[in-house]
Amino acid sequence: MIDKPLEDKKNRVAYFSMEIGLDEKIPTYCGGLGVLAADTLKSCADLEVPSAGVTLLSEKGFFKQTIDLEGNQIEEDVEWNPREHMTKLENNVTVPIEGKKVYVTAWQHNIAGITGYQIPVIFLDTNLPKNDEENRKITWHLYGGDNEYRLRQEIVLGIGGVRMLKELGYRMRKYHMNEGHSSLLALELLKRRKDVEESVRIKKVREKCIFTTHTPIPSGHDRFQYSLVEKLLGGYIDLNLIKRYGGKEHLNMTLLGFNFSEYINGVAKKHGEVSRSMFPGYTINAITNGIHPPTWVGEEFSRLYDRHITDWRRDPFLFRYAVGVPDDEVWNAHMKEKKKLIDYVNSKEDSGLKYETLTIGFARRMTEYKRPMLVFSDTRRLRKIARKGNGLQIVFSGKAHPKDFRGKELIKEIYSRKEELKKDIRIAYIEDYDIGISKRLVSGVDLWLNTPEKPKEASGTSGMKATLNGVLNFSVLDGWWIEGCIEGITGWSIGGKETGEDDRSRYVEDLYSKLEDIMEVFYYDMGTWTKMMKNSISLNGSFFNSHRMIQQYVVNAYLD
Ligand SMILES: *Cc1c(COP(=O)(O)O)cnc(C)c1O
Repeated sequence: MIDKPLEDKKNRVAYFSMEIGLDEKIPTYCGGLGVLAADTLKSCADLEVPSAGVTLLSEKGFFKQTIDLEGNQIEEDVEWNPREHMTKLENNVTVPIEGKKVYVTAWQHNIAGITGYQIPVIFLDTNLPKNDEENRKITWHLYGGDNEYRLRQEIVLGIGGVRMLKELGYRMRKYHMNEGHSSLLALELLKRRKDVEESVRIKKVREKCIFTTHTPIPSGHDRFQYSLVEKLLGGYIDLNLIKRYGGKEHLNMTLLGFNFSEYINGVAKKHGEVSRSMFPGYTINAITNGIHPPTWVGEEFSRLYDRHITDWRRDPFLFRYAVGVPDDEVWNAHMKEKKKLIDYVNSKEDSGLKYETLTIGFARRMTEYKRPMLVFSDTRRLRKIARKGNGLQIVFSGKAHPKDFRGKELIKEIYSRKEELKKDIRIAYIEDYDIGISKRLVSGVDLWLNTPEKPKEASGTSGMKATLNGVLNFSVLDGWWIEGCIEGITGWSIGGKETGEDDRSRYVEDLYSKLEDIMEVFYYDMGTWTKMMKNSISLNGSFFNSHRMIQQYVVNAYLD
């Protein structure tokens, strides 16, 4: 079956991402962006799309989170051994930083697809004795340090990545930038072919580059002061040229990537629209994100699908047949996953979660715009709602970026609600959210809650993971859920479709009144609940997967 072996280094698509989250044991990711990158490459491997991933080694990970009794987040370096997951390569390249040569080496991990077809992922590493102390640490902390540290990392990723691929003998057909952290790769490509004039070279680079933007918030785009750019990259490339393409005042990495890319896209239809209004004059397409089914479907649903939708791993479009799976088998598979989750949570902390209780999951990065406290806006009302049936319990998880003080406060606020409400609503907070915990949560809760401020959720993917495990979504209509929600059929919305002023009180009202209806269905109309589980697998699981997503990238962006 392996007709395109790993040795074939021609004509691949290079996929550059600051983070890639393949597995909970390889902690080179922070959250959604990295998980998406990994899911993309896994689908490339399954579908034999010739590609190669490039990222940083992040030797100390993002961070390991513990939380004390008051809800204070404590951060430590992650301990892991790259040797257990990847092979150290002998090759070295250098990148110019502050007029010095910084040496970069690499590690390789191969992703094997369902047919055995393999995709290399290259992890760049500057921790070499030849480098001075400061530069050895460039590939240590994912999203750590200050702006200067970040720019050093982006030089290694963008410039070092292109040089490393060449050193390893690859000849790429395309370069896909997953977010702006790798935009400097365009400048490195521009330096090739010095024989032709600049306008021709720029055209050639544009033909090779693809850019995917992930944030609808202006402050979410990496920006660097030109004094810093000059300090680190002076002499590498003409500053006037960078200013022409990266912005007059600051170096805006998104703008730089846009100006060198022939194909630009947002990660959901709405996000495409928002990006077009943020960057007028650019043609910005939209390819809605997806998740890699074999990675995210839990054991019990895998078994269920193996019985009824045999070929789902190879062809996730087949999930459309889920509506025909017998109700009791769907429900039993779900209850087994739910019991596993509840046993796990109860073993971690003394939260006393119960199998029969409607369980809500809320897990993602803890930061203001995700609005984890919205569900606690009126605790009297919430308590009252929780009296129905066997009540209500909520499982939270999520890390706050070490510099996001508001995010850390939110964790404390959840901890205090947990105490305040403990007689009426059991609440658990699982420390150190990662891919492993995410898998348990998206398969073990009943209802997946997401309440972001609109339009700040570019896509969101955790709800897609829940879907394929028969967990229903209850979310604000933003990102992917605008496309996925058919009210009362695939799940429930909170608030309307409109953007503009995000009216908090109306959202709270809608959240609580719908939650009452949802409890009613869960406790007294099991038939409807199970039917909705199957509807959402059929209608949403068959679409919001990374196989469909990568096929759209191939047709729209990778093929000329
Ligand atoms: C899927 C995933 C995310 C993304 O979650 P969103 O709710 O889409 O923001 C973040 N972190 C981990 C560990 C994940 O698995």
